[in-house]
Amino acid sequence: MIEKKETSNIIDLSRSLKQKETEIELLQQTFTEIGSELDLDRVFQIVSDRARELIGAETLLIPLLDDNCETYTYRGGAGKNASEIVGESMPLEFGVCGWVWKQKRPWWQGMLDELSSEEKNRWEKEAGNMILVPLQGKRNFLGGIAGLDKIGGGNFDKKDLNLLQLFASIVSVAIENAMVVQKMETLHELKENYRLHLEKVNKQLIESSEKQEYLSLYDSVTALPNRSLFHDRLSRDISEAQLLEARSAAGQEDAHIGILLIDIDRFKEVNDTHGHEHGDAMLSKIARRFESETGVQETLASLGGDVFIVVLPGHDQQQSLARAERYSQSLKDGFDIKHTSHVVSSSIGIAVYPQHGRTASALLSHADFSMHKAKESNVKIYTYDAAEDHLAQGHLEMIADVRKALDERQFELYYQPKVSAGDCRLIAAEALGRWHSETRGEVPPGIFIELLEKNNLIDEYTYWAIETALSQAKKWRSEKNVLRIAVNLSPRTLMHPEFKTNIDRIIKSRSDGELLTFEITENIFLSEFDRLSEMLGHVCSLGIELSIDDYGTGYSSLSRLSRLPISELKIDQSFIKEMLANKNDEVVVRSTIELAHNLNMNVVAEGVEEQLAMDLLKKLGCDTIQGFLISKPMPAEKFEAFFDM
Ligand code: C2E
Ligand code: MG
Ligand code: MG
Repeated sequence: MIEKKETSNIIDLSRSLKQKETEIELLQQTFTEIGSELDLDRVFQIVSDRARELIGAETLLIPLLDDNCETYTYRGGAGKNASEIVGESMPLEFGVCGWVWKQKRPWWQGMLDELSSEEKNRWEKEAGNMILVPLQGKRNFLGGIAGLDKIGGGNFDKKDLNLLQLFASIVSVAIENAMVVQKMETLHELKENYRLHLEKVNKQLIESSEKQEYLSLYDSVTALPNRSLFHDRLSRDISEAQLLEARSAAGQEDAHIGILLIDIDRFKEVNDTHGHEHGDAMLSKIARRFESETGVQETLASLGGDVFIVVLPGHDQQQSLARAERYSQSLKDGFDIKHTSHVVSSSIGIAVYPQHGRTASALLSHADFSMHKAKESNVKIYTYDAAEDHLAQGHLEMIADVRKALDERQFELYYQPKVSAGDCRLIAAEALGRWHSETRGEVPPGIFIELLEKNNLIDEYTYWAIETALSQAKKWRSEKNVLRIAVNLSPRTLMHPEFKTNIDRIIKSRSDGELLTFEITENIFLSEFDRLSEMLGHVCSLGIELSIDDYGTGYSSLSRLSRLPISELKIDQSFIKEMLANKNDEVVVRSTIELAHNLNMNVVAEGVEEQLAMDLLKKLGCDTIQGFLISKPMPAEKFEAFFDM
């Protein structure tokens, strides 16, 4: 009897030893397999399969705490229903996991009864028996390993619990490592995606900036340099001529430059009869003929529409006339439109440096005057003659009048509202000079400002304008509301050596500066960069904001602009006016808005006259609107009505 009992004990012992051996082997195998495995899904699969085998569970699950610490997700599983459960997420309050998390102890026996049926998840409701041990990593609490229902019935016992806890302590570090690796990979992927995205955005920016730079220098119909590039080239040629004059011995010949302004006669008829498309094609063909007459040192530009201009360095009056004949002759063969030949002619005005003017604008306006003379008198070519130019004759008197107007305070400031594109809210005003002369009537600012500039009177005028606008803004601040007033500043005034002293005298405190904006034209950016940057920095330190006026007509590079403290960019009205009819202008407006926003600048559209333009600008993301649609410039008292709207 005793012998029989001993034999059965020995059999039990050897069975239990064998069982232990299998378990140890299983643990070792698991450890080796996952020790070198970094693929998280593989790790979960191995752990689930081995754990299930170890405790003989029908289903084995690995619920892990999510990063938000509010939910957990079944990340791995094996056995019955596992494929359905893996990937599901639950709130922490829900199910056994939540219970373990809250109670901070393993769950292993019979405790499913402790959960109300609302607290159980779908699979727990079906399960008869359950075991769950925590997975504690080196750094963080990870979650747990759960077994559902013992294979062949019965309950999980204390031994299963100990085994699973041992198992969990071995695999937790491997799981944690694989999770860290996966996180790093995801982060790396995110970083890489972000880098690719940035690269793409930068490329788009560069492309649109190049496109814009092209559009701002070339005419889209004829592919010739436009007005601003022409201005730049002519100014360069004039500087070179002046340098030559300075170097050459007294009594020697002047350095000449011939300017030809060519207008195609009755071109409107071509457009009206054949449509703009054919008109544009013809302009482009005319441009090619003119191009073949133009030398490499010379400039042929388009001033828009059917007007061309040629700059001929080294050409005196006689030589310019001869060249004008050739341009005129180049049109004598017809142009094909819809298979029929059309002949056009031109009227050419000539002005020559230095006898007809020493500045680009004087030469251009005199060539323009001559071109109109040619048209009027029905000759093909006309050379400028000051004796015919009545406006020029009265020039000296006009200067005296402007001087007097300044002394007698005849100038006045009108104010034009700048409103937000979104809700038409009044945000600022632009101060615009007005001169009502007793003898001449209303003189436009385009004329008197140029006269002031040419006769060294502009500084005096500008300080008057700043002081007047500032005292108006102070008055409105105390009676109505705070409103920045924009004053137009001539580049010359800003770059004058005494500007800093003068502006410091006018702006006594930052709260004064915060009532002003200075609008400067983009040509200022051709000035010496370091000094300009210092001056603009000083202006900003006084609280004054800076705005680029008439953007798109000058010759400035956005990369230079971006290095200066500028907060606003005003798109020139020529683009706004054309934008509805001309796709190219819409492209300029759209890309200017985009680029300006990328440079953290506010965008103002000038010269908005139509509701359709306003709607399009709003759609394109423009911030501020200024134009006759909102209001014309008006005297201060009339402007006050705007505050009450
Ligand atoms: P700006 O600074 O670009 O001023 C805007 C001009 O566009 C103003 O012409 C304004 O009346 C006009 N404008 C505004 N909205 C519309 C619109 O919807 N349609 C049209 N057709 N025009 C609109 P304004 O007052 O004749 O001034 C012309 C230019 O004279 C100014 O251009 C500015 O460059 C210069 N200017 C005017 N006042 C001053 C001043 O006090 N100092 C300086 N330095 N320049 C001034
Ligand atoms: Mg302005
Ligand atoms: Mg402007």
